[in-house]
Amino acid sequence: MCIKNGVSKLEIDIEKCTGCGQCVMLCPVQAIKLIDNKAHIDKDLCVECSICYRNAGCPGKAIKPKRLKWPRLVRNPFSDVIATHKLTGVPGRGTEEMKTNDITSRFGENEIGISIEIGRPGVGTRLRNIELFSIELSKIGVDYEEASPVTALFADDHGYIKEEIKNERVLSAIIEFKVPINKATQVFQLIKEVEKKIDTVFSVGVISRVAENGTIPIINLLSEQGFSIRPNAKINVGLGKP
Ligand code: SF4
Ligand code: SF4
Repeated sequence: MCIKNGVSKLEIDIEKCTGCGQCVMLCPVQAIKLIDNKAHIDKDLCVECSICYRNAGCPGKAIKPKRLKWPRLVRNPFSDVIATHKLTGVPGRGTEEMKTNDITSRFGENEIGISIEIGRPGVGTRLRNIELFSIELSKIGVDYEEASPVTALFADDHGYIKEEIKNERVLSAIIEFKVPINKATQVFQLIKEVEKKIDTVFSVGVISRVAENGTIPIINLLSEQGFSIRPNAKINVGLGKP
């Protein structure tokens, strides 16, 4: 049976399930359980990543894809590593990678790029958690990455996301934006405030250019706000301009 990115929904034919448990071990959000030696998917927990269908090697061929409908359809591109987000055309769970800045020059002098990844494998997130950040970020005035799937979910310029998708569950969703460096402290304080309210995990990525003297000014600002920092340099081979 053919499975297309973004249109698959997994169901298990319990008549064919042998109870081997392989799909249970692979599910990244523990949505599959063996009951009376048969696998059952908790549809509410399932993030539509397709891993059970693609990787479990189901001996009974019991895992079947079915066509997904909106709004559940939105789960797949935020959870499936080989899906391409239809609204942005960006593959690989749809992030616009900040590490290519030397090529794209998106983040200039006196600007910083920030990504907030909400959820992760093993935990997941409801899409409504995006708003905890985005409504407040929009008040500060940030420049959201146009090619980010999360940006495509916004219903307006105030950071609200479309009502019908708020309860949808995904592996993770990444908010990507840039701000002038003089707004960085405001953003970091906002992130600290949201940390008190959110019901899942999140991680923050920051990109900034290294100054002529070799220092990275943003590191001091992050330390002042109590963030633990793991500096990372990225070198991308083969992406150079001719
Ligand atoms: S991999 Fe297939 S046979 Fe094994 S538990 Fe899952 S559905 Fe059942
Ligand atoms: S599609 Fe992904 S989340 Fe859903 S049951 Fe299969 S492995 Fe688990």
